Amino acid sequence: RLIVFEGVEGCGKTSQIQLCCQWLQSLGISVVVTREPGGTELGLDLRRLLLEKSENKPVAEVTELLLYAADRAQHVEQELKPNLALGKYVLCDRYTDSTIAYQGYGRGLNMNLINQLNYIATGGLESDLTIWLDVDVEVGLARKLGDAAGLDRIEQETIAFHQRVQQGYAQLAASYPSRIVRLDGTLSKEAVQQQIQEILRDRRQSWSL
Ligand code: C5P
Ligand code: MG
Repeated sequence: RLIVFEGVEGCGKTSQIQLCCQWLQSLGISVVVTREPGGTELGLDLRRLLLEKSENKPVAEVTELLLYAADRAQHVEQELKPNLALGKYVLCDRYTDSTIAYQGYGRGLNMNLINQLNYIATGGLESDLTIWLDVDVEVGLARKLGDAAGLDRIEQETIAFHQRVQQGYAQLAASYPSRIVRLDGTLSKEAVQQQIQEILRDRRQSWSL
């Protein structure tokens, strides 16, 4: 099963994925944790190209879109498909909805082009469940400001950009109500994890029918 975690900067995906992985493993389930961009060796190089701050090395919007697509194509072939074929649970930090939210709503790139590229990169592989951790962009960015690493190229975008991304997630959740589940990411870590576990318990029952 492919379970994807999505949301704006600082929404808490990474900690929730770790907790969720530990919980699933405690139930005896084989789990793989991965992310985009950067879930493969090649992807790590692409991630660096995409996220480093680059006054002297601009990244055109379409170039950015294509690099995320290249990262995804490699990730699907090298990590997602093989692990899913082994029957593992794959917990993935960002997937196709990130491209719709960031390059589509955030950058304003053509949605048809994005959907076509998502299809090319994934070969049609969709998540079984997408958990959207919803936090206001100000709350998420404030969490990020505490990071020693500082803000990456995308995190440094304007508040207006991040708000468009957020609207993108809201639209996606409205369009795909059974695939995407919205959780309130401002609740405590423990409360969010509790809700994730409840959702997964339910889904696992219907998946095994
Ligand atoms: O999830 P994480 O914050 O580590 O993702 C890396 C960065 O890549 C984020 O800052 C996010 O804004 C950016 N990103 C993007 N478009 C995507 C996927 C990720 O701009 N399609
Ligand atoms: Mg980030």
